[in-house]
Amino acid sequence: MSDATGTDAAPTPASGDDRSRTAPQHFGEAPDRATSVGSAPTYPIEGWHVRETDFDLDSLPQSETIFSLSNGYLGLRGNLEEGAPAFERGTYLNGFYESRPIVYPESAFGYAVDDQAMLNVTDAKMISMVVDGDPFDVRTGELIEHNRVLDLRRGFVGRETVWESPSGRRVSVRTRRLVSLIVPHLACMEYEVEALGPAEASPMAIEITSQLLANESDLRQSDDPREMAAYWGQVLKPVWSYAEGDRIGLGHRVDVAELSMFCLTDHVVESPVDWATETTREDGSRIDRTFRLSLHAGQVVRVRKYLVYCYGDDDEAPSIPERIAGWLDSALESTFEDLLDAQVNRLDEFWRECHIDIVGDDSLRQAVRFALFQVLQASALTDRNGIPAKGLTGQGYNGHYFWDAETYVLHALTYIAPDQALQSLLYRHSTLPRARERAAELSEKGALFPWRTINGEEASSFFPAGTAEYHINGDIAHAIRHYAEISGDDAFLFAEGIEVLAETARFWLSLGFYNPRRGGSFCINEVTGPDEYTALVDNNTFTNLMAKSNLAFAAAVIDRMREEAPEALAALVAKVGLTDDEPDTWRAAADAMYVHFDEELGVHGQDDSFLDKQPWDFAGTPAENYPLLLHYHPLDLYRSQVIKQADLVMAMFLHGGEFTDEQKRANFEYYDPITTADSSLSMCVQAIMAAEVGQLDKAWEYTQRTALTDLHNVQHNVHDGIHIASQAGTWLALACGFGGLRNSGGVLHFRPQMPPGLEALGFRCRADGAVVELLMTTHWVTYTLVSGNDLEILHNGEPLVLRAGDPQHVNW
Ligand code: BGC
Repeated sequence: MSDATGTDAAPTPASGDDRSRTAPQHFGEAPDRATSVGSAPTYPIEGWHVRETDFDLDSLPQSETIFSLSNGYLGLRGNLEEGAPAFERGTYLNGFYESRPIVYPESAFGYAVDDQAMLNVTDAKMISMVVDGDPFDVRTGELIEHNRVLDLRRGFVGRETVWESPSGRRVSVRTRRLVSLIVPHLACMEYEVEALGPAEASPMAIEITSQLLANESDLRQSDDPREMAAYWGQVLKPVWSYAEGDRIGLGHRVDVAELSMFCLTDHVVESPVDWATETTREDGSRIDRTFRLSLHAGQVVRVRKYLVYCYGDDDEAPSIPERIAGWLDSALESTFEDLLDAQVNRLDEFWRECHIDIVGDDSLRQAVRFALFQVLQASALTDRNGIPAKGLTGQGYNGHYFWDAETYVLHALTYIAPDQALQSLLYRHSTLPRARERAAELSEKGALFPWRTINGEEASSFFPAGTAEYHINGDIAHAIRHYAEISGDDAFLFAEGIEVLAETARFWLSLGFYNPRRGGSFCINEVTGPDEYTALVDNNTFTNLMAKSNLAFAAAVIDRMREEAPEALAALVAKVGLTDDEPDTWRAAADAMYVHFDEELGVHGQDDSFLDKQPWDFAGTPAENYPLLLHYHPLDLYRSQVIKQADLVMAMFLHGGEFTDEQKRANFEYYDPITTADSSLSMCVQAIMAAEVGQLDKAWEYTQRTALTDLHNVQHNVHDGIHIASQAGTWLALACGFGGLRNSGGVLHFRPQMPPGLEALGFRCRADGAVVELLMTTHWVTYTLVSGNDLEILHNGEPLVLRAGDPQHVNW
């Protein structure tokens, strides 16, 4: 195994991809320079790799996140194989959670009842080693070499270590691991040990122990609301264990959620000498399989470990052990190299479809590739689960799904990987029964989706920045609209899509009212918009515009169904009891939606009262007091003009047609300086709108900050997991910011502007099954139809028809 860390990797570009003409790609090059912005750790700038060349204990919490692998179903944190040292030994299954009552010292009617947490499940990625009695541990003996790489092109993590034990025995340890992007339940690892010497010494006694270990983590507790809030304890109850030959497995159940998870592993050993084996078990939460042998200097032993995970409810659980045994049998037919080939093919396809060219800033290019890789990892095979705010890379925010998925990740996925967007939308649809119950509980009609959740129930215990964020309904409806318009997937729109749109439209109609004191406009009171430093306000502009779009689109889809899909409409009527006049009532509310505009200031209010609030003392706020949420009581923030994250600015991005160009400029100038970006969700939106109002330098700065959020640990909390909204936001900042990409009723509309720091920017996106590429340099813009049927797009408002083999050039 010569390329554990990818230094000799020179994959050819994806077939049909002639990007080399514009963006020379440095595959597998050696590290050249270290990045300079942000806090430790820093990674050398390379084309397709994120690399760590030193071992630094202080950086371990971050690097565990950065070197995580996942496929949307199974996530393995980037822990060292030997399991220690570790910040959090994380293994996660999307949708496998436990629930428990939220304890409120002072409760009230309708508060969320139960909390949920994505659990840290059985850790099967541990392989420890003992050399002549000394445990291999990077903190003891001498670590002579450490090189770890995340290969974005081939989808694996490799590690090469040369270590000398305290008693002077030197070994090289080379590992590779992947989480399959093709089979949701599968991961594979290779663990290779080479005895290096000293040559004259007697053979080394090597003991390699492959472990399964449950209930070892979840021990941290924190006051930071962004982290996992509290200790969940050893909630995995052993229900099954298996040990036969090299195959070992464990099964656990959680009592409240009534889910059981199973992990089964098998091993293949390749060795020049014979080996002895032993299996030991402990308490149903630990099984070890140990391989013992003696190696002379120069000899190599390799252990390949296959990991299969699956969970299900009490009906499914009894059949899972047999199912996973079957999956493991078929996995064993492939070597690591075979699995890697399949991984590379999948990634070839991914990088071809969402190809992005960045010439002139190698650091940004690396960050964008990392970002897209994270988006793929979080969404590839979600198995109809949601997308947690941290993907499957850490337990930040308890693994909950928020609007981050619909408004950021799905906005990008719709353009680059629409099938993955659809999976998430189907997840939301599957939770509609609970959303209906929640709306009824809050005395409203229709359905109200939870602000944060795993199982579809509201899990937010702080309602001002939880349930009050009713905009989640509009965010989901907007994602459905965006996906349906861009993909043209009417089958989804006329079935699951319209059901959600109709129920959310009903909800808005019942939540708001026609207010005679506002000229009979439709007003929605007592809500919290995206800016969580302003809460429980009337007529949050973002919320009202999301509701307006939700109401109008739901009515328009029903109109279309009357003409185009009467049977689907009849099915909808039967399912949700839609009455004939309902769509008109939605349209009327949309038409009458109130939007606050202050004539004197010439700007929109973020809500009815925002412009009356007292200014925040930015000059008197020390830098160490950011994020403000960790230093000021919410009431201090609520009464001031200080913004956590883009809110009105977000409304201008998603509903650009509701604002004139002059209003956009004035609004951006007013709101941008008072936006702290204490939430990582802010910067990409600020970037997009800065570009739209012509502030390109600012757009560039925000784009950089978004792109480097995780690689440079901009928010200082990467140890909790990646910020998936920022990763998707990196693509959005480039495509929708500098590419000016908007969805104009299903038509791709570009208003390209050259980023100040680049020589060329290109990206691909899809509409109606066709893939379009925009490439801009300092002199010209070219649009190419990469695949699919002829497609009409808009360039600065002018129609352009793209045909195969006929790129359209426009000079600046
Ligand atoms: C943001 C929310 C976001 C959540 C999860 C919070 O800090 O204010 O908008 O949904 O983080 O990322």
